[in-house]
Order: sequence, then C-alpha cells, then structure tokens
Amino acid sequence: MSDNDSYEKYLKHLNKSPIATPINETLIEMVKKRVTPEEAEFLSKLPFRGTTPRKISKKLGIPLDELIEKLDKYAEKGLVYSIKGSTPNKNLYSVGDVLFAYYRMPWWSGNKDDYHSDLSTPVNKYYIDDLANSLTTPGPSQGLRSVPVNETVEDPSDILPYEDVVQLLDTVDYYSVSPCPCRTRHNLDPNFEESKYPMEVCFHFGDLGKYCDEIGVGRNVTKEEVLEILKKCEEAGLVHAPSSWRERMDTLCNCDPEYCLYTEPIVKLLSGPVPRGLQHSSYVRDWADEEKCIKCGLCAKRCPIDAIEFIKDEKKLIFKEERCMGCGQCVYKCPSEAIVMKQRDEPADVAKTPMDFVVRLLKERGIDLETAAKMIDD
Ligand code: SF4
Ligand code: SF4
Repeated sequence: MSDNDSYEKYLKHLNKSPIATPINETLIEMVKKRVTPEEAEFLSKLPFRGTTPRKISKKLGIPLDELIEKLDKYAEKGLVYSIKGSTPNKNLYSVGDVLFAYYRMPWWSGNKDDYHSDLSTPVNKYYIDDLANSLTTPGPSQGLRSVPVNETVEDPSDILPYEDVVQLLDTVDYYSVSPCPCRTRHNLDPNFEESKYPMEVCFHFGDLGKYCDEIGVGRNVTKEEVLEILKKCEEAGLVHAPSSWRERMDTLCNCDPEYCLYTEPIVKLLSGPVPRGLQHSSYVRDWADEEKCIKCGLCAKRCPIDAIEFIKDEKKLIFKEERCMGCGQCVYKCPSEAIVMKQRDEPADVAKTPMDFVVRLLKERGIDLETAAKMIDD
C-alpha cells in the first residue's frame, strides 16, 4: 500500500465522523504535517465510538499488550481519545475526529515551537474556508452553544437550569482548566495578531477533564476556582459556551469572538441574521428602561458579533435582534442598567444528552441511525 493510499483511507475515515470533513488540498496538507503514512493507516482502522482494546485487537489481529501500548502512544500524541478503565483492558479507545485531533489536541499544551507554528496556518485556513462554512447554514448544529452571564438575566432566580452556567457546574464531577487551543493556534499563525484575551479559560469536565490532566494539558481546579475564572471571562467579554447538550456537559469554552471555533464563523462568515440553529441561548438583549440609556456605546463595543451598532455622531443605537446570540456581554457592563436579557418566546432547542446531539448532527447530514451506528463502530 502506498503512502497516498494510507492517507486517502484516513481522510475518508475522518469524514465518516459526525462532523463532515470535506477532503481537499488544505486538509491533506495539515494531515501530512501531523501524521505519518503508517499512523494514517492505523488510525483509519479505529472506531469513532469508545471501544475496548480486546475488541480492537480481535478486529485488527494485533496482540493485546502490543495494541494497548500503541494506542496509548497515539493517545499521547492526541490522535486517539482514551477513557481510562480500572485496568488497561477496560480502557475505551476511539479515533479522534478532526476537531479533536487537529483543533484541540495540538494546541492545548500551549507549545509554541516551529512545528506548531507551521501546522497552525493550514489548520486555521481549513477551518474558516471549509469546516466552518458547513457550520453556518441553518441545519448543522455546533458542539457549543451560548449561555448568558447569569446576573444579566431579567430574573436570575428563574433562569433555565441548562442555561445557568453556575447550575451547569453542579452537574459535573471533575473540573479541569486548560489554555485556549483556538487562541494558541491563532497566536502562532503569522497571518493573525496576538489575541488580547486571557488564555487559561477552557474548562473540561468528567472523563474529558481527567483525560486533559492525565496527558498534561489541563490542571485540576475546584469549583470555586472555576467561578473565579468565569468572572474574569465576563469582565473581559468572553462568551460562555458550554457543550450543546443539557446533561453531562464535558466542555465549557469562553470564546474570543475572532478566534474561537464557535464564534469565529459567525463573525467572519455571517454578516446578516444568525440562524438560531447556531445554538443561541433562550435569551435576547432588550430594554429594561430605554430612558436610562446615556448613549455611551459600551454595549455595542462589547457585543462579540456586532449585533448592536452605535452611531456616535447621532448618539443612536441600532439593535439587530436577528443577530443576537443571547450572551449577555452587552448587559453585563451597561453603566445605567438600561438593558437586560429577556427570555425569548421560544426557548433554545438544546439536545438532552451527548448521544442525542450526535444523532441530531447525523440527521442533519442525512445519515440514518443504522448507517450511523455502523460508521462510528467501523
Ligand atoms: S446584543 Fe450582542 S452582546 Fe448583547 S446579548 Fe446579543 S450577542 Fe450578546
Ligand atoms: S451600555 Fe447601556 S447606557 Fe451605554 S449605550 Fe448601551 S444601553 Fe445605553
């Protein structure tokens, strides 16, 4: 089998994950910088669903001990995701999809060497030119959604539990914080300026949090520390963006509008209305008391996606409701309490569990469940 055949198999395999991964020159360039042909060949045989090494050993005909050693090496390199069991035989391994293996893992460590700098350019280009394009149409859901800053909501005691960033923290059992992989990869790319936002703001929970700490890209923190960091994010204007499901959140990003996976396509690819399928919260900026507004323009300046325009000469605000993602960043710093986050008539349609979310993604790609189950187990 030639090197190109191995890469082709791996690229086709990546495209079978729930995240559509169009194959083109940029993808080939970034894959070749990250994996060898031998690695590509091996990765193309691993399932997307977490699977025991015994099952994989049977399928691939590789002795169990040898296989576990190999899988652990790939996991260290961030190409395979592993959930530790009580013994190595009970570990669960799955091949990393494009977001995991190319948009998270290489950047989490904050490594700034030439290799990472070289990799950053095609990875950034592929995201905005190819991957993100498919994420900005009304259908495809995104893995993250926005939730408002709690105290900006009209009645914070009545906030929807799955949109309350503090209540969401009570539903998880392990907290880890890492440097933002999105900002790291943009900071390394000579085509972008250094992000002005704080770096250590990406949270992972449960098994994913433990995994981050085990491979040395995260540090275990207490819930109180999480709350302190969240406060800093609110001050800086970063958008709280948890996993797009209600139960067992595994990620809570704090998104920089220009550089993060969730907000970058909205800022750069959508100038008009933002479809609600892009995981808006159930809240929208509204007047609390228009009379109180001193026309300072701060809300427009803090809006991460330009949903508010401030015409300075006329001292006029134009609010584009169809663009508002319901993050509350405008309300948070309004000096006169003139605005507030009000609940929309129709709450956000958030999947219940991670599996419900995956099923939704697959449906949006026109893939039925039977085919999907085969695809992620193959
Ligand atoms: S107007 Fe902008 S800052 Fe305010 S809630 Fe909407 S998206 Fe967020
Ligand atoms: S921040 Fe508040 S006071 Fe300033 S322009 Fe916006 S709504 Fe008005």
